Amino acid sequence: MSQIAIRIIYDNRKDNPAMQEGWGFSCLIEIAQRKILFDTGADAKAFFSNLKQAGIDLADVTDICFSHKHADHVAGLEEVLSRMNKETRLFVPKGFPKRNFPVQVTYVSDFAEIDSQVYSLVLKGGLFLYEQALVLRSNKGLVVITGCAHPGIVHILETVKARFGEAIHLVLGGFHLFRKDHKSINKIVDQFKSLQVEKAAPCHCSGDLCIAEFQNAYQDGFYKIGTGTAITLDC
Ligand SMILES: [Zn+2]
Ligand SMILES: [Zn+2]
Repeated sequence: MSQIAIRIIYDNRKDNPAMQEGWGFSCLIEIAQRKILFDTGADAKAFFSNLKQAGIDLADVTDICFSHKHADHVAGLEEVLSRMNKETRLFVPKGFPKRNFPVQVTYVSDFAEIDSQVYSLVLKGGLFLYEQALVLRSNKGLVVITGCAHPGIVHILETVKARFGEAIHLVLGGFHLFRKDHKSINKIVDQFKSLQVEKAAPCHCSGDLCIAEFQNAYQDGFYKIGTGTAITLDC
């Protein structure tokens, strides 16, 4: 049976004591024959050190996706790309700063298929800001990976539901709720439930309150994650 493996390389919180945490996000997704790096965190030194700890060689990465252009997601971008195999494909949302990238780049305007089980969804996240989320297909349902969820975590999930018409198994990443109070977070938890999201793994800019509320509401369907966490799903 094949599996989807997701490893958190960079996050506000720490799971593996040998790795460095910091405000930002990065994860590596292994699915089918692909190794997809999603974001690179905020601090290049910490990011490279975490990669080394996790035993990840950038030359093995087949695809790199940046969720959006904010500094807590794109650390060391040029160095990262320069260390990659020339076959590596880069996926960024439209509006991402144009540079002379050393690898093949795709600017996704709303939706793209990255691989047979991997999709990119781009939504407007603010003035001059577009954000890319990834959608993976597992045999338990869809897995949605977000960077900061600036377009709104519920809006992202509603768009995924409308486009795919399939069950959402897991939502992992930054939900951007760190400034929200109990009431607004509980409303979002309820919306997750009505969208029948089975599992939640809020991290990065989700905020401690959001993480606690999701843990409460989801119990066994909650993943506590941080830098160094590895999650494996059957696909
Ligand atoms: Zn952001
Ligand atoms: Zn962020």
